[in-house]
Amino acid sequence: MRILRNLAALLLAAPVAAAAQATPPPQPILLRPARVFDAVAAQPHDGWVVLVQGGRIAAVGPAASVSAAGARVVELPGTTLIPGLIEGHSHLLLHPYNETSWDEQVLYEPLALRVARATAGARATLLAGFTTTRDLGTEGAGYADVGLRDAIAEGIIPGPRVIATTRAIVATGAYGPRGAPEWRLPQGAEEATGPDEIARVARDQIGHGADWVKVYADYRWADDDDARPTFTQEELRRLVEVSNAAGRPVVAHASTAEGMRRAALAGVATIEHGDQGTVEVFRLMRERNVGYCPTLAATEAVRQYRGWRKGREPEPPQVLEKRRSFRAALEAGVTLCMGGDVGVYAHGDNAREMELMVDYGMTPLQVLMAATAVNARLFHLEDRIGTIRPGLGADLVAVEGDPTRDVSAIRRVRFVMKDGTIYRGPGMAAEP
Ligand SMILES: [Zn+2]
Repeated sequence: MRILRNLAALLLAAPVAAAAQATPPPQPILLRPARVFDAVAAQPHDGWVVLVQGGRIAAVGPAASVSAAGARVVELPGTTLIPGLIEGHSHLLLHPYNETSWDEQVLYEPLALRVARATAGARATLLAGFTTTRDLGTEGAGYADVGLRDAIAEGIIPGPRVIATTRAIVATGAYGPRGAPEWRLPQGAEEATGPDEIARVARDQIGHGADWVKVYADYRWADDDDARPTFTQEELRRLVEVSNAAGRPVVAHASTAEGMRRAALAGVATIEHGDQGTVEVFRLMRERNVGYCPTLAATEAVRQYRGWRKGREPEPPQVLEKRRSFRAALEAGVTLCMGGDVGVYAHGDNAREMELMVDYGMTPLQVLMAATAVNARLFHLEDRIGTIRPGLGADLVAVEGDPTRDVSAIRRVRFVMKDGTIYRGPGMAAEP
C-alpha cells in the first residue's frame, strides 16, 4: 500500500519537479494580520492567518488551525488583510487631463513616452493595492496595453495583472480628436460602420491580443453637448456574437438610456458611465446580468479640471445627474462594478472611486466587495482571484484599520503581494 502511495506521489510530483528547475519552489510565507477579510463572509475574521505557497493561497483560518512549519512569518499588526483590489476601468496609457488635455495626449505624445509613463502608472497602481486592472482602451496608443500586460506578467516591470482591450471600437465619425472638417485626424479608437465591419474590427483587435472588446454605444456627435446612440442594435448584436464566440466579453461605454438599453439587449458584460441611466434600464441590466461601472471619480475630476471647486461650490449638474443615476442603479439592484476611469485622474489614486461610491450611498462593505469578489466575478476571474480561499492566486493586500467599516483605510496600504511575490511592506526581497 505504501509503495503504491509513494509511486502515485512520484508520478504526481514529476511535472512539478520539472517546472521547479526553472523556478525554485519558494519557501511558504505565513501572513499574520490583525484580521482577515476574505470577501466570502461579510465580516472580517479576527485572529486569522493566511499561508501562501508557490504563488497560491495554501490555507486560511484561525492561527491555531494553520500549520506554519517551515514558513517565513510576516507580521502585519493592526492591519486587515484583504484580497488584492481589482480596478474595473483604467486607462494606463492616459494621464490626468489637467496635466495634458486628452486631444494633446492622443495627437502629440510619442508612443514611447506614453508607454514609459504607463509603466510608472502600472507601478503606482500595484503599490496602491490594486493587483488587477481592466484597461479599457489605449486612446490612440495602439496595442501598447498588450505589451504592458505581457511585460508585467513576465516580471519585467511591476504592475497589476492587466485585462487588455487594445484600441476600442467607435462608430465612424463619432469620436475624437476633432479638427477642421477638411482633415481626417488620427482617432483615439478604431472606427467601424455596419455589422460586417464591426465584426472584422473586433476580430482584428482580438487577433492583436484583446482580452475583452470595448465598444462605444453612444457618444457626442460633432459639436453636440449631449451624447446620442452610435451603433445600431444589429451592429452591437453582431459585435457581441463574434466577440463571445472568441471567448471575449464585450464592455460598452454608454451614458444615454438608449445606448445602455441597446448594449444590454445586445448582451454586453458591463456598461460604463451610465450618467442618464433610469431605473428601467438598470432593471433591464439586472435581468440580463449586465454589470454597471459608474466611474464617479472621472465625472468629478473632469468638472474640477473645468473649474468646479469641490466642497466650496454647489455640485454642478453633471455631478448631480451622476448621484441621481447612481441612486437609480441601487434601487434597481444592478450589480455594481468598482471602476473609476482612472487615468483621467492619477494612477495609484484608484481609491478615489471607492470613497465616492460610499459618499454616493453604498456601505464600505458593499464597496469593498465590489472591488474584490464582485469585480472578479464580473470579469470571469472568480476561480483565480477576488477572494481569500485556498487554491486561489495569492493576491493579498494589508491595510491599516478596518476597510469594512471605514473606506479610507484603503489608502493606508502596508503590504502588497501579487501571485505570491511581495511588492510592498515587510518581507519584501527588494524595492520594485
Ligand atoms: Zn474610460
